Amino acid sequence: MAVQQNKVSKSRRNNRRAHDALVAANPNECSNCGELKRTHHVCPSCGHYDDREIVAMVDEVDLDEDAA
Ligand SMILES: [Zn+2]
Repeated sequence: MAVQQNKVSKSRRNNRRAHDALVAANPNECSNCGELKRTHHVCPSCGHYDDREIVAMVDEVDLDEDAA
């Protein structure tokens, strides 16, 4: 196992971590439904991408359908 030769000071450690913060996503409006969506991703609310329906959306799934 590699062992560090010198103690990393709090200042040096904190300076290194100064760039570690996460940045927020940059959502775009869906061109089909207008909901905010991640860029270059299929819209999670309507399933469209590039004005085409990629994922067929089901309004509501009734799990007890077969039981009746
Ligand atoms: Zn959409």
